Amino acid sequence: MLEQYVQMRDDVAAQLPHAILLFQVGDFYETFGEDAERTARLLSLALTHKSSKDFSTPMAGIPLRALDQNVEKLLAAGVCVAVADQMEEAGSGLVERKVTQLLTPGTVTEERHLSADENYLAAVATGDGYALALLDVSTGEFRTAAFHTRLALYDELSRHRAREVLLAPELSGNPALLADFQTRFPVMLSPANFDEDAAHAELTAHLGEVPGSLTSAALVRACGAVLGYAKLTQQGHLEMVRRVVRFEPGAHMRLSDTAARALELFQAQSPQGVTLMDVLAQTRTAGGKRRLRAWLRAPLLDELSIRARLDSVELLTRAPDLRGGIRSLLYRAHDLERLAARVATRRATPREIAALARTLELLPEAIGLLPPQDGLLGGIRARLGSLPDVVTRIRAAMVEDPPIRIGDGGLIRDGFHAELDDLRNGAMKHREWLAELEVTERARTGIGSLKVGYNNVFGYYLEVTGPHLSKVPADYRQIATLKDRARFTRPDLREHEREIARLELAAGRLEVDVFTELRESLAAHAEPLAEAAGALSELDVLTTLAEIAAEKGWTRPHTTGGDTELKQARHPVVEQATGGKFVPNDAELNPHRFTILLTGPNMAGKSTYLRTVALCALLHQIGSFVPADQAQLPVYDAIHTRIGASDDLAGGRSTFMVEMTELAAILHAATHRSLVILDEVGRGTSTLDGLAIAQAALEHLHATRAHTLFATHYFELTRLETDHPGLINLHVAAEEDEKQGLTFYHQVIPGAARQSYGVEVARLAGLPAPVTGRAAKLLTALNTSGDDRKLMQELATLDLSRLTPMQALEVLHRWQREV
Ligand code: ADP
Repeated sequence: MLEQYVQMRDDVAAQLPHAILLFQVGDFYETFGEDAERTARLLSLALTHKSSKDFSTPMAGIPLRALDQNVEKLLAAGVCVAVADQMEEAGSGLVERKVTQLLTPGTVTEERHLSADENYLAAVATGDGYALALLDVSTGEFRTAAFHTRLALYDELSRHRAREVLLAPELSGNPALLADFQTRFPVMLSPANFDEDAAHAELTAHLGEVPGSLTSAALVRACGAVLGYAKLTQQGHLEMVRRVVRFEPGAHMRLSDTAARALELFQAQSPQGVTLMDVLAQTRTAGGKRRLRAWLRAPLLDELSIRARLDSVELLTRAPDLRGGIRSLLYRAHDLERLAARVATRRATPREIAALARTLELLPEAIGLLPPQDGLLGGIRARLGSLPDVVTRIRAAMVEDPPIRIGDGGLIRDGFHAELDDLRNGAMKHREWLAELEVTERARTGIGSLKVGYNNVFGYYLEVTGPHLSKVPADYRQIATLKDRARFTRPDLREHEREIARLELAAGRLEVDVFTELRESLAAHAEPLAEAAGALSELDVLTTLAEIAAEKGWTRPHTTGGDTELKQARHPVVEQATGGKFVPNDAELNPHRFTILLTGPNMAGKSTYLRTVALCALLHQIGSFVPADQAQLPVYDAIHTRIGASDDLAGGRSTFMVEMTELAAILHAATHRSLVILDEVGRGTSTLDGLAIAQAALEHLHATRAHTLFATHYFELTRLETDHPGLINLHVAAEEDEKQGLTFYHQVIPGAARQSYGVEVARLAGLPAPVTGRAAKLLTALNTSGDDRKLMQELATLDLSRLTPMQALEVLHRWQREV
């Protein structure tokens, strides 16, 4: 058996070098050797040893019934798994085994291993820049794009949260590059084939040609590699992948991964924190949720597309009944995108096809609800209606509530298939004969207690109790004797029984054929099915956005040529958390005020204000209403953020290094059409360094005329207002009171803050009184050095050539008094 194992493991390793082979031995899947050590560690299993006189090997096993949950854990840890099952009952000799599944994090399609969101497998190759191919095997979505820089590629990879990334040899062979990829993404060092000729062959075989949109060798290689690898893991079945779509990363707003994290779109910065996605994800379908996430990841740049979405959302906010109708209908829908993909791969189970039919039956209802019109909703209505009538076909062929497995019978409806009906009727006649047998035989023999029974060993039998044994007729043959009774059979009983078995077996086989044919005929409609599924997801997102807007009193933003004006804007997440106590604020950015310097004590609400503006801009560009009373927003080409101190300990970079790297990326990329949000830049280093860097960065951004919101505790920066037109000081109101301490008003008002209140905030936070007292004294001393600076400044500007000796003496005298 171990020889068989070793052979099989070698075979698997040739395809997926780092996969763990789960090898069925009776009621367990076993792993041996290094695999066992890895498995035990990853799954926290006890490691045992298999030993004989010649050898000993570590061994770790999981029970058959616990396969799914353990495979899930392994996949989540980024490990590939091969499952070898026993193909026959264990006998005396070696049992035949076969690898039945190859599972990798990015290519699983079984519902139980999938997250309801997205599951992208990615491949990256280089040439002139970088080429990326993305494939979601569970829905068949296949996309590709080219990038000039590695950072842009990284952004796209993290947007898609690729579960498995394949790297071309020119990348994986470069240790520095490889390490860089590996700290960011689940890189799988598998032998995906990036060879250009092989990629050509793969694409041609699968799509009929190499699409013209793949304009570089790198794109062809990335697409070919992804396809080949997916095909390997799907054991050839990739029918739902029908075309590759080239997308332009530039067609969407640039939203770096750092920005997505800083704005807490999908991931909160504290473990129990709430994200924007949490607030928005009131979608009714899994497809809707995936679509919403995709929209958030890729806000639009095209004004017309933004307007089209906003028009639909507005219409839906105004029609609560329509909205309610659509939402309750969507509630009954299954994951149509997934089902469509299952149909396309011809893998759908009877239950999945029944779910498909139930969902498709909702479509006419949805079409009935939607008013015929132009715009997005009209398009959705059309796409929902373009599907040929597959429901009737499914309903005619299949029972409503089919069994789980195909071979179990009772799947195809009576009256659908003449030959099947004949077989079933035949079997039924024999069963009826058996059912009547008890009555007829009791009459014939006069044994009132005679029974017809059934067991696995004898099949059907006649049972007679002790006192009546003498009345048993001659054509009964005894087959078993029990304590007080005996069991008999008759030649014709056997005959009927065999017929039943034969007819039912034939019926079962025929059912499989009929079902397969049905499934095959559905696969032909895979494309309109996918279209309808996409339309349903989109409808879900639009309705959800409208629902949220109506529920929370959001307003429709109006697209401007460049200015931003928000009245009474709120932070969608913080507003929810503060439960009605949120203080709304205005924001204004235009050619006369494009650099906002925001000061105010810690905890006053600076970050919240910055993020409020950024989130309103983001929501506008996904076509959503925004949390404000009035909103005018331009189409920003990017939202850049640098917020808070995030340590990249795994990457071994210091906080300051991370901050500067991110700042560098922003300063390189920001244009006059960008929105830049900077919070406490320069905090990671000494005060003077930090101040110098913050000022230089601010001056640079001011020169690009990007819309910049800059929150800082460096009060020295506020004087930049005097000689930088367009730079405006704002601060968040707070008041210090002898008795009350510090009060926050969360109100953003013109002008610079007076002081930082740092010591006061420290007192609020519970620092011991002696410590805050000492800090206050030190602060006074340090502030005196502020006076020094004032003197120096005056000295620097003193015009000595116009000063009489007497005046000079007076100045000296005054200074002496002040010091
Ligand atoms: P800062 O960046 O100035 O240190 P934050 O923006 O992090 O302050 O805000 C601190 C806390 O104050 C937030 O967690 C929130 O609870 C509250 N807060 C901020 N802005 C507002 C507001 N406009 N209305 C009500 N509460 C607010």
